[in-house]
Amino acid sequence: MRPTGPLHLGNYHGALANWIRIQEAYDCFYFIADWHALTSDYEDPRMIEAHVRGMMLDWLSVGLSPEKSTLFIQSRIKEHAELFLILSMITPVPWLERNPTYKDQMVQIQNKDLSTFGFLGYPVLQAADIIMYKAFGVPVGMDQVPHVEITREIARRFNSLYGEIFPEPQAILTETSKILGTDRRKMSKSYNNAIYLSDSPKAIAATVTQMITDPQRARKSDPGNPDVCNVFTFHRIYTNPDKVAEIDATCRTAEIGCVECKKIMAQNLAQALAPVREKRAYYEQRPKLVHEIIESGCGRARGVAEKTMEEVRALIRIESRKT
Ligand code: ADP
Repeated sequence: MRPTGPLHLGNYHGALANWIRIQEAYDCFYFIADWHALTSDYEDPRMIEAHVRGMMLDWLSVGLSPEKSTLFIQSRIKEHAELFLILSMITPVPWLERNPTYKDQMVQIQNKDLSTFGFLGYPVLQAADIIMYKAFGVPVGMDQVPHVEITREIARRFNSLYGEIFPEPQAILTETSKILGTDRRKMSKSYNNAIYLSDSPKAIAATVTQMITDPQRARKSDPGNPDVCNVFTFHRIYTNPDKVAEIDATCRTAEIGCVECKKIMAQNLAQALAPVREKRAYYEQRPKLVHEIIESGCGRARGVAEKTMEEVRALIRIESRKT
């Protein structure tokens, strides 16, 4: 995950909830991709460091566990850069140019100059990040599937050129619907429409007040349609089923208005996030502990990465201990 800002409910339901689930069954490596953040934010990297810390706090507060998973920071493991360099030698440029996210973002993102070597090569760095740990699965959303496919192609190419050491990773697809923000666009920190995991109940209430409900419902006396209401989507997640059924019925008959409905949702959401805020406060007050968690995660990741790179160097006969 790129440390480009605080995490919101979209990030939680779209990614983190799944990460938390799968750490129970798999040996997971989760990293803060600060080098990847540079691909788009290279002109002003000052914020990246602050976001790295904030992201680790967000992760710990929602329940990513430093005991169950390896939590680390990409730039602390220099082997990623070395493997990226080696993989870049064997990756044909057309594989990267035809990558749909690349083509898409070149068109969509107009306020930054993305015609850089690093931005084009982003999936090669991702491939290095993934195969370094000989991963067999990568938990991603649909949009990232082409990147996992490029990783598979690169791994296959490395294996056929130098020796079979890398498994070809599969995408572990997360079935999640897109969480919408206050303005009904995809919830995103870039759109100023997000509810953040670290928001106070007051901040949550203020954001929920601004949420667009059923656009057809202009007055309280108009019957509403919960099926198209984003507030109702959140009720389904955060409100108990009996109350959800009641809100569903009373919205359709205009017995409950949006103001009251939002108030109930904001309260339930704030309550659901209370343990997250508590855990965040716990770690915020213990910078030494967070430091130790990061050191230990980076240490574990580095151990694996060093071993992989010794194998890689031996295979390509560059700087190998055997030479
Ligand atoms: P942002 O749009 O806020 O910059 P990112 O692109 O950094 O978010 O997303 C990080 C992860 O969170 C990705 O796995 C992405 O699929 C997921 N994600 C982000 N926003 C949403 C959303 N609104 N709904 C569902 N998943 C989301």
